[in-house]
Parts: sequence; C-alpha cells; structure tokens
Amino acid sequence: MNNHEILYLLKIGELVLKGDNRSLFEKQLRRNIRAKLPACSVTFVTQKGRMYLRASKCSREYIEQALVKTAGLKGFALAVSVEKTIEAVTQAVLKMLAEQSSFSPGSTFKVNSRRADKSFPLSSYEICCAVGDAVLKQFPGTRVQMKEAQIEISIEIRNKAYIYSAVQKGPGGLPVGTAGKGLLLLSGGIDSPVAAYRMALRGLRQDAVYFHAYPYTSNEALEKVKTLASILSEYIPGIRLYVVPFTEIQLEINRYARTEEHTLMMRCAMIRIANKIAAQIYAKVLITGEALSQVASQTIESLTLTNSVSDLLIIRPLIGSDKEEIITLANKIGTYETSILPYDDCCTIFSPVHPLVKPEKDEVSARFNSLKLDEMIDAAAEAALSNGNQLL
Ligand code: ATP
Ligand code: MG
Repeated sequence: MNNHEILYLLKIGELVLKGDNRSLFEKQLRRNIRAKLPACSVTFVTQKGRMYLRASKCSREYIEQALVKTAGLKGFALAVSVEKTIEAVTQAVLKMLAEQSSFSPGSTFKVNSRRADKSFPLSSYEICCAVGDAVLKQFPGTRVQMKEAQIEISIEIRNKAYIYSAVQKGPGGLPVGTAGKGLLLLSGGIDSPVAAYRMALRGLRQDAVYFHAYPYTSNEALEKVKTLASILSEYIPGIRLYVVPFTEIQLEINRYARTEEHTLMMRCAMIRIANKIAAQIYAKVLITGEALSQVASQTIESLTLTNSVSDLLIIRPLIGSDKEEIITLANKIGTYETSILPYDDCCTIFSPVHPLVKPEKDEVSARFNSLKLDEMIDAAAEAALSNGNQLL
C-alpha cells in the first residue's frame, strides 16, 4: 500500500472540442474516475486544457488499471510537481530519468516545455535548453533527438511546475454517462460486448439484457454472459444485467410461427421486451451487436423488420465492421476468450435450417402481432426487472 501522494496527468482528448459543455464532460470524467478508485483518496486539479489526478492510499498499479479502461481519457502519465524554479525542475527531471532503466548511453530524448505562467523568468525554449544540457551532462552518451525520441519529457509551468514522461494510452472517446443511458442486448457471442464498448466510448452508459431460454440454453451460458457483463463493467461502471426468462416465448414461437420465420419472430419478441425494460429503467436507446449481412436476421430487410417493432432507436455500432475487426477489439477489451466458450445461445438452438432472408416488413410484422405474445412479453419483462442485479 502506498501512503504517499501519486500524481497523474490526464489527457482528455476529444473533450477539448466540447465548447460550453466541456465542464460537464470533465465533471462526469472525474466522477467516473473517482468511482473506479474506491480504495484511494482522490483529488483533481483541473486547469485550462489539463487535468491532474492526485491520489494517495493506493498503488500505481491499482490506479493505472482503472485509468486504462476509462472512456474519455486519451492518455495519462505519471507526473511530479515541484516548486517553480529551474533548479527544482532540473533535479526532478534527472530523478525521473534515473528511475527509467531503459534510459542509458545511446538513448535519445527530447524535452518539451509549456509556460502557462508567463511570469516564470525563462522562456519555454530556455527551459528546454537548460534541462537538456543537465541531462546530457548527467547521462553521458545520450542524445537529443527532435523526432521520435525514445523518451519525451514534458515540463509545464503553471501554479507549480509539473513534469511527466511516458504517456500511457487510454481508450479515448467521451466519458460514460455524458450521452445518457442505453440498454444493450447482450448475448454470449463475440459481437455484442464489442458493440457495448464502442458505445461506451461515445459516452453511453448502459445496462444489459440477456434472453435466457433455460433449459435449451444452459446455466453455463448465463454464467458466461454474467462474466462478459462484469468485464464490461470495467468500462461501463455500474452496468446491470437483466435476465429475461425466454423459454415460454421461444416455445410459443416454435409452435405457431412459420418455421422459416422463427428467428425473425424471436428477434421481434426480444426487441419488444427490451423496449419494455428500457422504459422502466429510463434507457433511451437499444444497442445490438448486429453487422450487416452477417446472418439471415441481419439483412437490410430483417433489420427493417426489427426496427419496425421498436419504439426506441436501435443503435448497431458494428453494422459496417467485419468479423476480424470485431475479434481484434474483443481481444483488446478482454471479452474474446469468454465469448468463444462453447455454450449455445438461444438463437442457434431454435434456428431454422432455411431462414427467411428478405422478410417483407408489413406482412411479417402482422404475423408477429397475430401470435398475440403481448401478455407473455409483459410478464417476461417484469420477471427480468425483478432480478436486475448490480455488477461491480
Ligand atoms: P453475438 O456475437 O453478439 O451473439 P451474433 O453474430 O451471434 O452476435 P445474433 O445471434 O443474430 O448474432 O444476434 C445479434 C444480436 O442480437 C446480438 O449481437 C445481440 O445484441 C442480440 N442477441 C442475440 N441473442 C441474444 C440473447 N440471447 N440475449 C440478448 N441479446 C441477444
Ligand atoms: Mg449470438
């Protein structure tokens, strides 16, 4: 455990573009970071174009694990702050470099400096020269290189002097919560967790709904979805999972719908139930992992049909992505290994061999309505709402 204070520069990327809303976005970002670091004592210093995080009572690893998964952060770097004198700045830079074992004879470096406080006696250029000379003297055999230096040291003269190097990447995008809330249709597959991640980076907070057709889908399948939701919770703090008992509806569809339309009917039922749940939890949009033409239910005609039974906008962030791209992202966010565990989802078990690929919207939605599933849909949504559990 670390009792001394740790300082990080937070790079907030796209937030910079947000004009008057900027302070709201920053506030949400601070709130999200604070919520992710319950074990730390946290304060923020926010100044034009820059945000610093001060933390104590926790370790660097703990902080960095949280920051690396915080939407809205383009990057972050361990920093130090010292009094505003060139001597103190130089000493701090030398100490920082001495701690970097990769900095040795032959290494290249560059010093950047920004002087927000114009009363500081040296210009930015003079700061760079003074510090650069001291580094060359202390570490013989190292070289200054302007382009693609191995190590960049940044110095900012503000209320104090801040020094950082080694910027680590965050996910970028916008802070979760700045775009409102959506309901994710989370299956056990590869795509929907990636869709959730994409929308998290656009600032959308999300809860998730899973349609569980027990015993046709096993409890292991449900566990898998819970694991996915908990991995997602590192990016989407506070995500809840609602589990819909879907078996009766599946069987009803299997019994009374045309075989080639089973999947489409099931998807219409899912969308209707998701709308009901969304209304109760104040979610304003649905998110799915669909990609154009990936399967029969993801053709333009099929998507038009499912749109037509939804009051809410359905966002499909992967609509133009190919599978490889999706898998790369799934690996990056850590969901891939779980997604490929071999448990059938409800869709594959009840899939027709020759599904209808190009449904005519009005005819098929009329047949969906004639199944008279309304009561079962209400009951399924109710049951899911009563079991929504918080995941941390
Ligand atoms: P995924 O890899 O996300 O499962 P998929 O390629 O298998 O997608 P489908 O099974 O047709 O495609 O599902 C399309 C989308 O519908 C999913 O991405 C997900 O958003 C939603 N979905 C499918 N099955 C379920 C389910 N059992 N519970 C919740 N959502 C589901
Ligand atoms: Mg699937």
